[in-house]
Amino acid sequence: MAYIRLDSQAFFHNLSTIKSHITRLSPATKLALVLKDNAYGHGLEQIAPLAKQAGIESVFVKNYAEALSIAQLFGTITALYGEIPPNAPSNIWASISSLQALQSCATAHKNAHQTRNIELKVNIGMNRNGIASDELDHALSLLEKARHITLAGVFGHNGYGDNDDEGFFTTIQAFSDVRERVQKWCKARNYPTPRFHSLSTSGALRLADSAHSTLPQDLGDLVRIGIGAYGYHTSELPLHIALKPIASLWARKISSLALKKGDKIGYGGVSVVEKDGVFSTYDVGYGDGLFRIDSRQNLTCASGEKILPVMSMDNFSCQSERQEICVFDDVSAWARAFHTIPYVILTHLSPTLKRVVV
Ligand SMILES: *Cc1c(COP(=O)(O)O)cnc(C)c1O
Repeated sequence: MAYIRLDSQAFFHNLSTIKSHITRLSPATKLALVLKDNAYGHGLEQIAPLAKQAGIESVFVKNYAEALSIAQLFGTITALYGEIPPNAPSNIWASISSLQALQSCATAHKNAHQTRNIELKVNIGMNRNGIASDELDHALSLLEKARHITLAGVFGHNGYGDNDDEGFFTTIQAFSDVRERVQKWCKARNYPTPRFHSLSTSGALRLADSAHSTLPQDLGDLVRIGIGAYGYHTSELPLHIALKPIASLWARKISSLALKKGDKIGYGGVSVVEKDGVFSTYDVGYGDGLFRIDSRQNLTCASGEKILPVMSMDNFSCQSERQEICVFDDVSAWARAFHTIPYVILTHLSPTLKRVVV
């Protein structure tokens, strides 16, 4: 059966390279890993232990179910979406993105036997989710009254990390203002200061790249690294870092056929044999989460064989006799061919494909 190979050395390389870039500029900043959506399609079950092995202490996942499945591995697991039940393990932190969510978290934990750490998500310019700047005081006063809830983090999401746009800097400033307000508030009450963070892969690397320039050089208490750990970035500005994709997709041969010039292959006979040869079918298709290749993309396997249109649900053909073929070891070409980004190709990979760590 087709399977995904995960290159552990490439993963460790990405983490240590990113870490050295970041700590060069900002030694106290920690690397946190984003493991949401089944570790960007790579497999939460496989990537989480590797992350632990690499010394990662804080991770971000999509929801409580993902958090619970790796609760033994990390000191802090923040579930970005959804609610956390009051009896959840205490290392699972809730992300709170609205006054209403804060209120209902407080109510749910009113009679809890333990304190829940929460991270307040603030809107710093992406205008999607998060507590608005003019709601912050209200949120803090709710927190002050709530029992069994601790403000452990405050975070924003800089939506301009990839773009050569001044929005990147206004967003950094907006977060810096929020941090100042919260720090002041904590100090006045003698509360411990929460952790502050607002940067993901491209934003963090971009600031790290800009050492000695006039750009702001504060990366926060931690950076939330997602796509970079998996070997990609989508920044439109050059980032001086060499990352290695860690996932490759391998398919096995189902059968081979000797075909003659003019023979047709697959649905509708879209592919026509140009020269006599042996063609084989391999056991992966769009039912495994790949985008369906038709005559528009012109994609090849990693070893160069053209993937013949049109792809079927569970298989594709190419001119090869290999027993096993590498469909891709880098999804950049797939992302370009389908006018999308590597994140999309990766997160679509079916969770039922076997993952093998090498
Ligand atoms: C997905 C996500 C990230 C990671 O972004 P990358 O571009 O993959 O590094 C960081 N923070 C939040 C809140 C996210 O949802």
